Amino acid sequence: MQAKKLAILGGGQLAKMLAQAAKRINVDVICFESKQVENPCAAEIAPVLPVDFADLTSMSKLIGDKNNPITALTIETENIPVSLAKALAESVTFYPSIEALKTSQDRLFEKTLFSELNIPTPTYFNINNMNDLYLGLEKIQHNSVLKTRTMGYDGKGQQVIRWQGNLDKTLPIAEKAFNVLANSLPLILESFVDFDYEVSLISVRDKLGNIKYYPLTKNTHESGILRLSEAPFSAPEADVLMQQAQTHAQKILSKLDYVGVLAIEFFVKNNMLIANEMAPRVHNSGHWTIEGANTSQFENHVRAVCGLPLGSTEAIGFSAMQNIISTLPSDEVIAKIADLPDVHLHLYGKSPRPNRKLGHITIWADTQDKLKEFIKNTTQAN
Ligand code: AMP
Repeated sequence: MQAKKLAILGGGQLAKMLAQAAKRINVDVICFESKQVENPCAAEIAPVLPVDFADLTSMSKLIGDKNNPITALTIETENIPVSLAKALAESVTFYPSIEALKTSQDRLFEKTLFSELNIPTPTYFNINNMNDLYLGLEKIQHNSVLKTRTMGYDGKGQQVIRWQGNLDKTLPIAEKAFNVLANSLPLILESFVDFDYEVSLISVRDKLGNIKYYPLTKNTHESGILRLSEAPFSAPEADVLMQQAQTHAQKILSKLDYVGVLAIEFFVKNNMLIANEMAPRVHNSGHWTIEGANTSQFENHVRAVCGLPLGSTEAIGFSAMQNIISTLPSDEVIAKIADLPDVHLHLYGKSPRPNRKLGHITIWADTQDKLKEFIKNTTQAN
């Protein structure tokens, strides 16, 4: 029987890890990446065709080639034009769904969806001008965050506005924040959540509507960038939070008729989840599943979109994932890691640049205490 063929829009590290997982279940992968991207990471594992995402005619020809049929088309980034996905979906099965892509590209659409589904989310306002900001701040009366609605990631395009006790005193700060982002209108103003900590839920839904959930992951960000993920997250309130997370995810997955992996990021405040954002794809906070779960998020995404049965999402032991950001580890550190059989190094083949995610390490242990000890040691080694 001919192998299934998965096409991925994007050729970065997520496409690379999807292609690695696909190989293990005999699914061929082909990636399409913008011509402007030099040395796409996925090229180490699968063919990556340089394309122009704005050229719908050429893209439709490539994807719809009857001599080279594609089982499904998916994405590794939400920054794919909806018009392109729509055009391609006419000739090939596109997952997760056009609606999911559209919603996750815009923080206002996302928060509107959460609100419609009664999923708690920070108070938010659409901001087109300083007057909107004035009105929003007057309602929030607390610290807030002004964000670009689209294209923001890893804390980019965000300005925190500290409440100065009254609106008049806060306005000069708000004006500064607005001016920094004024080239990216429209914006969104959110109330700043004084959260206890942050978690994410990685879920996966197949074509028949079956859903599986990975255990909750606890995430630590610095300057808006994910640094550390720990899973399964365990705390006295873990079960209560997992119940809430599943209920929220189930609503979103069903509403969007979603197929594939969906990640939802939440703030935790007084044992309640407040949805921050979602990603219609495999997610950085789910990288631990490669070594730490029965089936990785990457394999389960490939399974879902290719119409294969989902694998178990159960965790094996305890995992912590640390991102490698800005600078690559030295040869000495790499050698040290190789000496630790339960520490797994993933380098994406990217050249160093400030705040760029260059790789990650996953630390695994059979008990949580051992994991904590391990994290301490590897952080020192770094
Ligand atoms: P985002 O790009 O929206 O995921 O934001 C990146 C990180 O900034 C989040 O993971 C939080 O740590 C922080 N952050 C974003 N929005 C808020 C908010 N409304 N309240 C508090 N912290 C926030």
